[in-house]
Amino acid sequence: MNADLHCHSAVSDGTLQPEALAQRAKANGVELWALTDHDEVGGQQRAREAALAVGLPYLTGTEISVTFADTTVHIVGLGFDADNASLQAGLAATRGGRTQRAIEMGESLAQAGIAGAYEGALNYVNNPDLVSRTHFARHLVATGVCADTYEVFRKYLTEGKPGYVPHRWASLRNAVTWITQAGGVAVIAHPARYKFTPNEEYALFTEFMMHGGRGVEVVTGSHSSADAAKYAKTAQEFGLLASRGSDFHSPEESHADLGSLPDLPAKLTPVWSALASRIQRPA
Ligand code: AMP
Ligand code: MN
Ligand code: MN
Ligand code: MN
Repeated sequence: MNADLHCHSAVSDGTLQPEALAQRAKANGVELWALTDHDEVGGQQRAREAALAVGLPYLTGTEISVTFADTTVHIVGLGFDADNASLQAGLAATRGGRTQRAIEMGESLAQAGIAGAYEGALNYVNNPDLVSRTHFARHLVATGVCADTYEVFRKYLTEGKPGYVPHRWASLRNAVTWITQAGGVAVIAHPARYKFTPNEEYALFTEFMMHGGRGVEVVTGSHSSADAAKYAKTAQEFGLLASRGSDFHSPEESHADLGSLPDLPAKLTPVWSALASRIQRPA
């Protein structure tokens, strides 16, 4: 099945509105879709309605920012009740520090000779609660500081580089608990991106499962085929459900378009097999 269970709209750091994403997913042959905005479920109703209107089965989604072992880790939640009060409160708390962080990112960039970046980034922000590094990256590309967003993240905004501001996000325990208590399944997003040592990675996976986490992204936009093979093995070793999602943000910036990924390896159990009752289907 062509499932795409990871992407972003303008409600977080994507450039397209939920309705445009639903249409693009359908046009690209997606058969099961989830919008997973960062730390936010404000686009869920629009995404679901737009998906059902174009005949596309839908799962609710979000991608929660977590601090684990002093590293930012992303946990995707799928198939939860988006009206759940403790999930909504947890996400609101997780979003809470973003504006102060963004002001400090602007100050750090100013010290490196790039003035006005916070104000510039705001030009790209649709949800005032959700200023992200992606919005700074778009501003730095638009003003010619960098050629593309990949260059931005090589030279700025990452640890040790100008514009980087350390931040404490949700705990792994809380993120997994918010998702599972709202009836959803928690999934470790793009594990190859964290560059953990084998011991750190083992700790992440075991603690994640101890808190009730059940899935891992195996096929995703930032994974090479070698990464996918590695995490297919990890999924089998830990008995985790496997997920697949492009992490699409924008037609101009993203590695992978909606619905354009390789299949999950056949030996894995797809995360959607555990979410059959949570899938919302067109009439
Ligand atoms: P934030 O949640 O504000 O820390 O921003 C994180 C977002 O920045 C991610 O969801 C990606 O969209 C983007 N991002 C982070 N690191 C990179 C990178 N190395 N290359 C491209 N995009 C990145
Ligand atoms: Mn993003
Ligand atoms: Mn992510
Ligand atoms: Mn993402």
